[in-house]
Amino acid sequence: MDYSEVASKYAELEAISGRNELTRILADLLKSAPSEELAPLVYMTQGKLKPDYEGVELGLAEKLALRALVSASGMRQDVVYSTYVKHGDIGTAAEELLKRRSQGTLFSEGLTLKRVYDTLLRVARQSGSGSVEAKLRELASLLNDATPLEAKYIMRTVTGELRLGVADYTVLDAAAAAFLGGKESRSTVERAYNVHPDLGFVVATAASKGLEGVDEVKVEVGVPIRPMLAERLSSAQAIVEKMGMKAVAAEYKLDGERLQIHRDGDVVKLFSRRLEVITSHYPDAADLVREHVNVRKGILEAEVVAINEDTGEYLPFQELMHRRRKHGIQQAVKDYPVALNFFDILLAGASDLTPRPYALRRKKLEQVVEQTPRTRAVPALSSSDPAELEKFMEDAITDGCEGLVVKDPASPYRAGAREFAWIKLKREYRSELTDTLDLVVIGAFHGKGRRAGTYGTYLLGAYDDKSGAYTSVAKVGTGFSDENLARFPRLLEAYASHVRPPGVESNMVPDVWFRPHLVVEIIAAELTLSPIHTAAMGRIRQGAGVSLRFPKFTGKVRDDKRPEDATTVDEIVAMYRRQVKRVE
Ligand code: ATP
Repeated sequence: MDYSEVASKYAELEAISGRNELTRILADLLKSAPSEELAPLVYMTQGKLKPDYEGVELGLAEKLALRALVSASGMRQDVVYSTYVKHGDIGTAAEELLKRRSQGTLFSEGLTLKRVYDTLLRVARQSGSGSVEAKLRELASLLNDATPLEAKYIMRTVTGELRLGVADYTVLDAAAAAFLGGKESRSTVERAYNVHPDLGFVVATAASKGLEGVDEVKVEVGVPIRPMLAERLSSAQAIVEKMGMKAVAAEYKLDGERLQIHRDGDVVKLFSRRLEVITSHYPDAADLVREHVNVRKGILEAEVVAINEDTGEYLPFQELMHRRRKHGIQQAVKDYPVALNFFDILLAGASDLTPRPYALRRKKLEQVVEQTPRTRAVPALSSSDPAELEKFMEDAITDGCEGLVVKDPASPYRAGAREFAWIKLKREYRSELTDTLDLVVIGAFHGKGRRAGTYGTYLLGAYDDKSGAYTSVAKVGTGFSDENLARFPRLLEAYASHVRPPGVESNMVPDVWFRPHLVVEIIAAELTLSPIHTAAMGRIRQGAGVSLRFPKFTGKVRDDKRPEDATTVDEIVAMYRRQVKRVE
């Protein structure tokens, strides 16, 4: 397939915003691709090269992207730079610069989708010494053969800024429309995606095997399942009412990291909440699974928690940060031991347990997980009495937990869903404070005084999952340890931008912008209306967004969350409304 065909469809997609229209154009695009190119096409249309869980990241830094453009356009660096700043978008800049150059390239080869895809894959995978130059060469050669329109989309893709507004769900709609006769098949496609979150695979299956093939997509060891998520309510009474006044299953909510554990014999693979492979962080957890979980082939979920080896006490999440290192992990395993608290089992041998009720899964879990100082099924209580549940929550907090996750015993495992079948109950909900928020760093201001030479405050955004935008919600400067003050600029360096990145909405202009990447946990005194911040603009009052009063960084970097997993604008609106109710 020619890349020019893809680029012109991208231009069409970009020009419209209605979901029906997007779906129609995307369905046309999918139908026009040969089957072996469908998966790459789907990844590329989402600005990716592989499903997220394979961890292939594009996101070339601004500086490098500009160098490639200098080389391919033959223009001076300052011309390239000023064109970029003028447009505020590297794609449009590339298009303009290559238009000026285009007379010279009459003999260039036409680009195919395959060539663009393979080249970008090589660019993404190159690392180590000499990789910067190699990436530049690859990219420049692609741009040499690109038309201005193609260059626009190549540059946006390679910098991680291709934002066509095509959400995962739109791709599923389009696949249903293109290959499965439309809307009736939609829930089947979605189920397949939730248990096998590789859009390229799901679309290619729809095209080659039809509805029956999609229906047969199974939970599989080695392929992570989208996690089931919890809603929140502020009292045990409200939870029991919501679940229909029956006995509910309350579990300790541990303050650790979620692990999705895939085991096939002695091979154990650990996925994070965002479905990245993190086996190397926890070699000891993999050993614990091999030794104390009596299922040879299966998928389980557990919260991994740092413990004090002498007292058996649970330690806060921050202690797990020491496990994030590339080198010296064996030492970290010794210095920062962990325990596994299993809370679900999704596959055992050949049986897919996800459609089975929680109560049955829990029974199975108790059968297969040995109770040892380092492994157990998470403490749980079945009760319909709110007072008893509140008491259990106090016990949980005394034992170093955040609160409870209350589960509906009749509910299947609903992959990828945030519903009231699981409800969190934390202590914070009952005090003046709102729950913590997970916000995306979208900018920073230079520091003064003690913070001169580094960033003093950060601008934070909430995710609007309807529009795909990151909207400003607060500026935060407190809660940073010296270590974090020094570390943050390094974490953010590759995402820095001189212009407001596409998809970021903020009236406040920071000294440096960042492409959405880093997610941090923030606590605040309350939510307030703000004429400046753009989060939930006009949702509660015309001309006002929602902001945070006295925001403070808790010290937790949520690298188990992607920016799209950050607290959404809808959640913030709901929190604001709950807070207003409490005041009344
Ligand atoms: P999200 O709900 O999006 O995961 P979050 O991580 O901010 O956001 P939390 O308030 O931490 O939400 O609650 C859900 C998380 O709680 C789970 O992802 C899991 O890591 C953790 N957790 C701890 N104990 C349990 C348990 N017994 N059952 C389910 N999840 C648990």
